[in-house]
Amino acid sequence: MRLPVADRRAVWAHSRRLLADHRRALAGVVALQALAALASLAVPWMLGSLVDSVREGTTREAVAQVGVLLAVAILVQTVFAGVGQRQAMVLGEGIFAQLREQFLHAVTHLPLSTVERAGTGDLLGRTTNDVDRVQWVVRFGVPRVLVTSVTILLTLLAAFAASPWAAVGLLAGVPLLVASARWYLPRATPAYLKASEAYAAINGVMTETVEHAATVDQLSLGPRRRSRLTEALREAWYWEDRTLYLRAVLFVGMVLGYAVPAAVLVVYGAWLVSQGLATVGAVAAVTLYSLQVRTSIGELMFWIDEVQVASASLARILGVNLVEPDRQATGETPSDDLITAREVGYAYRPGHEVLHGVSLDLVPGERLAIVGPSGAGKSTLGRMLAGIHPPAGGAVTVGGVRLVDLPEEQLRSEVALVTQEHHVFVGTIADNLRLARESASAEEMRHALASVDALAWVDALEDGMLTAVGSGGLILTPAQAQQLALARLVLLDPHTLVLDEATSLLDPRAARHLEQSLSAVLAGRTVVAIAHRLHTAHDADRVAVMEDGRIVELGPHEELVGHGGEYAALWQSWQQD
Ligand code: ADP
Repeated sequence: MRLPVADRRAVWAHSRRLLADHRRALAGVVALQALAALASLAVPWMLGSLVDSVREGTTREAVAQVGVLLAVAILVQTVFAGVGQRQAMVLGEGIFAQLREQFLHAVTHLPLSTVERAGTGDLLGRTTNDVDRVQWVVRFGVPRVLVTSVTILLTLLAAFAASPWAAVGLLAGVPLLVASARWYLPRATPAYLKASEAYAAINGVMTETVEHAATVDQLSLGPRRRSRLTEALREAWYWEDRTLYLRAVLFVGMVLGYAVPAAVLVVYGAWLVSQGLATVGAVAAVTLYSLQVRTSIGELMFWIDEVQVASASLARILGVNLVEPDRQATGETPSDDLITAREVGYAYRPGHEVLHGVSLDLVPGERLAIVGPSGAGKSTLGRMLAGIHPPAGGAVTVGGVRLVDLPEEQLRSEVALVTQEHHVFVGTIADNLRLARESASAEEMRHALASVDALAWVDALEDGMLTAVGSGGLILTPAQAQQLALARLVLLDPHTLVLDEATSLLDPRAARHLEQSLSAVLAGRTVVAIAHRLHTAHDADRVAVMEDGRIVELGPHEELVGHGGEYAALWQSWQQD
């Protein structure tokens, strides 16, 4: 399953809306560039009238005067073009910033199940390659398209003003330009979309292989991964080749299209002069315009191509918005803190149920351990209890309200899932903490750090909580990173925690040190511990034994051992080990 891709119309509508949001800056840029273009258009016009006046006889002073005017025109053009270009870049950055914020919002609100099903490659491709492509066009393309379009339009007007007859010759290349663009455009976007998909596939295969290198080695999957990569590369190669061919045809049409008018004008202009329909100076001016406009047309065509690439990327970026949310807040409020699972079922893939009608009532303040063989569905149940995924059947409720009917923020203040995977986000320590609660005050953050035993080392840093961490900043030890994650929990302050110990990455020394921080966080809360080691279960108030997606036993440790069932057997074999 892939993430959706927006259609052409949606991309257009969104681009128009983005431009409309920056209407004033846009108008300013167009005005500045128009002034610059006007100044540059004065040059051929003055040269043309110079030709005519020299033919008719003129003075040295008059020629010198025109020279000075030419210099002034060039200077004016340079200044307006410079300022205009600067404003255009500012505009590009503004548009891109808005786009990036919207995208980030969409990405961070994607339902987790969608992300997992689509694989990391697709999303990673969109957040890297596709964003880069759009960024390049928004930063440089949008400004240049504005500049060149204004220039071309004004050049045509100036040519018509100089001599309408001669200006008709300028249009000689238009049919070729139109024909090549019409051939190219409908073929380009789908091809570029395919190319983007192919790159995303390469990304996916590579990152998944590298991230799970140990698994790949152990299961001798190397050759299979390599052939997957070769396949992805072949696909990307094919589409690169295809788009290169499209570009090659386009460029031939274009180069002819803008070389033709100059040639036509020389012959056609001579005829116009012989018929007395235009002066030599006017023909000279229009011919100079045709040469001057060539670079603008070339650049515009270049950007039209890049815009095709970018619109394919934009379609993929906007596609992320099309993912249906997996939940909708209903506005109901829980009547109490009781979390209850009723007949909960779940399947990661349709038809492969991994939970079968699990029911469970959490007792406020208790510590419940979930044990069972690997693959029994413990982590999955944990995720249901924390509201990470909506269950496929049945419901998990808090105070009578389904977890997935709560707004995300409120859900996290009821129940949170704690894994031992900890990610340090690029930013300051305070930024990392505020992820839990945006409105947290410095005092509250210090309190949170203190309660996980982290305030001392944070205060010892030169910039304290304002120290930049993560890649590019201070690199935290795994234990420090874990403490930040725990401090976030303190700020969230949920009454129930689901602790998944599945991915214990910490070395035992760090773990011992952290245990204190952790128990400070757990105190006074209901805790569901997914125990992959049985000693956790021994200390719990109740133990739930899972097997094949069902809870088969539930009760206090002693009682279950006395009962002589599954748990007693597990416990015995574990003790023998
Ligand atoms: P446990 O935590 O008891 O080891 P899990 O809840 O992780 O069990 O897994 C239960 C079943 O669901 C297993 O068969 C596992 O292969 C499958 N499963 C777990 N996570 C995923 C996933 N993201 N996509 C597909 N299947 C999954």
